[in-house]
Amino acid sequence: MSGPIDLHAHSSVSDGTETPAELVGAAVVAGLDVIAITDHDSTAGWGQAFDAARGTGITVLPGLELSTQLQYASVHVLGYLVDPANAALVAATAEIREERLHRAERMVERIVKDYPKLSWDDVMAQTTPGATVGRPHIADALVARGYVTDRSAAFQSILHWQGGYYQPHEAPAPVVGVRLIAEAGGVPVIAHPGARGPERLLDDARLTQLVDAGLFGLEANHRDNIQGSPEKWARTARRFGLVITGSSDYHGEGKPNRLAENTTGRDVYEQIVEHGTGAVPFRG
Ligand code: AMP
Ligand code: FE
Ligand code: FE
Ligand code: ZN
Repeated sequence: MSGPIDLHAHSSVSDGTETPAELVGAAVVAGLDVIAITDHDSTAGWGQAFDAARGTGITVLPGLELSTQLQYASVHVLGYLVDPANAALVAATAEIREERLHRAERMVERIVKDYPKLSWDDVMAQTTPGATVGRPHIADALVARGYVTDRSAAFQSILHWQGGYYQPHEAPAPVVGVRLIAEAGGVPVIAHPGARGPERLLDDARLTQLVDAGLFGLEANHRDNIQGSPEKWARTARRFGLVITGSSDYHGEGKPNRLAENTTGRDVYEQIVEHGTGAVPFRG
């Protein structure tokens, strides 16, 4: 196998627009050799993704993207090959999903004051049962009501963190998130470390702490790494003995990110597979 390896993608189990099966189908069409399913704070899509991969030749790397919070910044930690039944991880992700739901309610309460046609039911109508709720679902509800044209327009206005309606949500500290993933047999990688927010907080002292907690890599190649270049994050990774990954962060329609726009080297993928003990990749 020699196709591209893309280690970060979302399905409708969180805020992607395609079901896990459709996501795997899109990855097959894109010619990927490996696709990781990394829904926010959930592993619920793994089974469907595996079923869809069967017989196609693609490999599904199961993972999640754990929400963590450091001061004002939300830091996302990818966790590959975690044991999906690990009690501490199951409890933490359930709590984060609950916090996200309340946070979405708080945002909608504020938004409806200025956009009265919007309702909480509109937002729920945009989610699949049990999904990890986020701003993209509020965006879809705003689109359905005709207030904005698409998700990106919503994120640039009403849902922007400085848009006047933004609310943060509770989540564990990054060091706690990294430890949770590592203790669940998983491989922790900081997602888009150079996205607005995390960048200034991920200094050498913090990275040392995260490495001590079990951090394995940095997602240096990602379109949101606008603070500091991919090269800078790659150098940082090397200084700390971390692997360098690259991924699309595909969310289906609604976000411009395309599958395989950034990819991960086969050697790194193999190191991840070797390091993870909580689950195994599904070779379809
Ligand atoms: P939240 O986690 O609820 O604060 O919402 C942020 C999430 O929205 C991130 O996972 C983004 O990847 C996702 N997202 C989906 N579509 C877009 C978009 N068009 N612009 C910005 N973020 C988006
Ligand atoms: Fe997302
Ligand atoms: Fe993310
Ligand atoms: Zn993501």
